[in-house]
Amino acid sequence: MLHNPEDAVSAFPRALLAHAPTPLVPLGNTMRGSGHDHLFVKRDDLTGLAIGGNKARQLEYYFGQALSEGADTVLITGAVQSNFVRQCAAAARKLGLACEIQLENRVQGMPAGQEKTGNMLLDRLLGVPIHMFPVGEDEKAADYNLEKIADDVRSRGGKPYVIHLGADHPPLGALGYVDCAREIIEQTDALGVKLGAVIVASGSAASHAGVVTGLRHYGSDATVHGICVRRTADLQHPRVLKRSRDLAGMLGSPDLVQDADVITTDAYLGEGYGKPTPGTMAAIARGAKEETLLLDPVYSGKAFDGFLSLLNEGALPSDKACVFIHTGGTPGLFAYAHLWEPARAS
Ligand SMILES: *Cc1c(COP(=O)(O)O)cnc(C)c1O
Repeated sequence: MLHNPEDAVSAFPRALLAHAPTPLVPLGNTMRGSGHDHLFVKRDDLTGLAIGGNKARQLEYYFGQALSEGADTVLITGAVQSNFVRQCAAAARKLGLACEIQLENRVQGMPAGQEKTGNMLLDRLLGVPIHMFPVGEDEKAADYNLEKIADDVRSRGGKPYVIHLGADHPPLGALGYVDCAREIIEQTDALGVKLGAVIVASGSAASHAGVVTGLRHYGSDATVHGICVRRTADLQHPRVLKRSRDLAGMLGSPDLVQDADVITTDAYLGEGYGKPTPGTMAAIARGAKEETLLLDPVYSGKAFDGFLSLLNEGALPSDKACVFIHTGGTPGLFAYAHLWEPARAS
């Protein structure tokens, strides 16, 4: 059922970085007694690049472009505990390029010491220069400051490639999730079960837009549930739709994704980015105890909360494959260790 023999995706330069295809694993204990026989987790937490995650697939196309332009230094910006930044630093190391990272103070009220652990520990270990940026939640300002760092690289005779945060640049990273959609179709086809639903975290929207567009591109009509982890659905829906249309245009079929294809829910977002809810914490606990999945409080824990809730509400088809994409975030667990501090004996 895989359409499109002449695949438009292969026209884009790609640097092979991710360990893929990632496994599609049955959620055996979650299925027991649920009335579902085809619940799966797509293990995109196992993509490699210094502990895995969804950014490995996205970086394949950014680094493909950077290499094709002859860049020697890649610049990226993100939250202090950004998985994207950490995987970017690792990708640069693998490919022998220089990398400079900018870390934004996006989450208020984090305990002291988060710069010593989690993703930032790995950034240090990877040995890339770190620029701290005190502003949070201002994409334009973060991108603008990154351009200034790019100017510095140029003035030293380097050739920078900037991975922008804002949604006004082509969604190259989303191509990685077109690849993921193809893998999911191939893997469920091989098991002889039709794909009914995919559940994925929706943040920058690269993964969400990539999966929706990829499924339609390869002829699947499966429902994609985007679980908001960054902003409310009224803001996220137009963003995902725009990114999907941009991406579909890059693939040569601008009308591929309709408004109704984009489903976003912010019922599991809580107070916002980086702020786990009791539901997030319960989902992380269930993932660990029932399926030994290590989910994080910022992204995949919220998405898994959404998945379990949709399952509970009967919103997922029981006769088709339903796939939760584990987008990674494992290092974030350690930066948020305070959430699991044992209650002190008094
Ligand atoms: C970035 C990230 C997401 C969100 O993915 P987008 O493509 O930005 O929407 C989800 N999970 C993890 C672990 C991430 O690092």
